[in-house]
Amino acid sequence: MLTNNLWHETLHSKLGQYFTINKILHRTRTNHQNLIIFENTNVGRILALDGIVQTTESDEFIYHEMMAHVPLLAHGNARKVLIIGGGDGAMLREISYHKNIEQITMVEIDASVIELCKRYLPNHHSGSFENPLCQLVIDNGVHFVQTTSDRFDVIISDSPDPIGPGESLYTSKFYEGCHKCLNPGGILVTQSGVCFFQLNEAINSYRKLQNYFNDVKFYQASIPTYYGGIMTFSWSSNNPVLRQIDVSTLIHRYNKTNLKCRYYNPKLHASSFALPQYFLDALKDSSAF
Ligand code: SAM
Repeated sequence: MLTNNLWHETLHSKLGQYFTINKILHRTRTNHQNLIIFENTNVGRILALDGIVQTTESDEFIYHEMMAHVPLLAHGNARKVLIIGGGDGAMLREISYHKNIEQITMVEIDASVIELCKRYLPNHHSGSFENPLCQLVIDNGVHFVQTTSDRFDVIISDSPDPIGPGESLYTSKFYEGCHKCLNPGGILVTQSGVCFFQLNEAINSYRKLQNYFNDVKFYQASIPTYYGGIMTFSWSSNNPVLRQIDVSTLIHRYNKTNLKCRYYNPKLHASSFALPQYFLDALKDSSAF
């Protein structure tokens, strides 16, 4: 919401954050959502969809490094990766650093997001849309995973909050489809909200994911412009060993990929699965029925 030179996030109705606007770069109603890209002195360029911060230049590296490198370095030999959403191109950028990957399929519902992020968020995509290994599909992620005959080693659901088109990426249909198109030993990670204020999002995903995977857990990172504290990422696979790779193996794999991260490191990877007690209690209670 715009009021004299301030942009107010409307994710929560009774509290939230605002950003002063130095310059609006683009503002439109796409076929799927309201989009604004604007500049702020402190956090750089901001992409917001339907009134919710999607990503800012200042702290996007935290989110994209943790959503890309935790599953990929845990897996250790991913050849085919699926990104659902990710229209700003930063997830594609991070995944492109892993040279053993042979194919990256990116399924984004809104072509306008890609076109406008290509133009206004060059520091996000860093030209990764030109990666010849990337197959870009404009589709609803649920439809894609339900209908594709392709199979993947890692699936990353870089979705917005469950509002608007993003809502369908938090459904059993989506998780069932992801389970269907994961190779044996595959890993699914999804964005599951800032747990202090959006605990139900994680709990609902947890309950649904458990119908398809036998190891469903969460890991965390704090991204300052995702309002309210740590964000959790759901982690689903059928092999608990993948979640507990020892730090020395992660260090070996990290060094082999020649990654130079600003947030991710192997020790932090291992510790990111440690979660607040209230969150663990809520997960336990949710399994109680
Ligand atoms: N990092 C952000 C977050 O945590 O909220 C997500 C950013 S990324 C821009 C979200 C992308 O998901 C957007 O480009 C949006 O168009 C796309 N999207 C939303 N619903 C979708 C769906 N059902 N299928 C595929 N892409 C979808």
